[in-house]
Amino acid sequence: MVMKPIVLIPLGEVNIDLLSRLKDELSEMFNTCVSILFHPIQLPLNAYNARRKQYHSTIILDNIRSTNIGCGKASILIVTDLDLYVSGLNFVFGQAESPGNYAIVSLHRLRPEFYGGEPDSNLLAERLLKEAVHELGHTYGLKHCSNPRCVMSFSNSILDVDIKSFRFCESCRIRLSELTRVS
Ligand SMILES: [Zn+2]
Ligand SMILES: [Zn+2]
Repeated sequence: MVMKPIVLIPLGEVNIDLLSRLKDELSEMFNTCVSILFHPIQLPLNAYNARRKQYHSTIILDNIRSTNIGCGKASILIVTDLDLYVSGLNFVFGQAESPGNYAIVSLHRLRPEFYGGEPDSNLLAERLLKEAVHELGHTYGLKHCSNPRCVMSFSNSILDVDIKSFRFCESCRIRLSELTRVS
């Protein structure tokens, strides 16, 4: 597999240790260059839905795409604490172009505190890795997988996130190598 470089861009306040850990894990997993870019992202006013107190991730992705950051030569993954939604769903852990170059993941509902638990940085990092790999998988063109242990399985709740692993199942792994083969 020859993967494009991955660029992580924090949107809003994101813990740097958490980002650095994600950077190392992704670079090992995809065997590619991963960097963290502190790039100011201006959100359009209509990205925020005051009634829902959530941000429309499609509008955020459209906005990032319009800046042409990465010039199509890198996978851009926005990491944010904002609570995200898309039309038709109460919330999303993330969203990605598939295939494409832009993806976003939210920490908001990955935090144990969101469910009344104690903060747990290891658990948070593990969940973030799963959702980051999942969204990057979409950018490479992978679709949802019916294997609940596969990182490409769709997560409707935090339980689904915890059940899946951060790895691709055998068939997704094969599909990924086909999708990323340089012809
Ligand atoms: Zn998905
Ligand atoms: Zn799979």
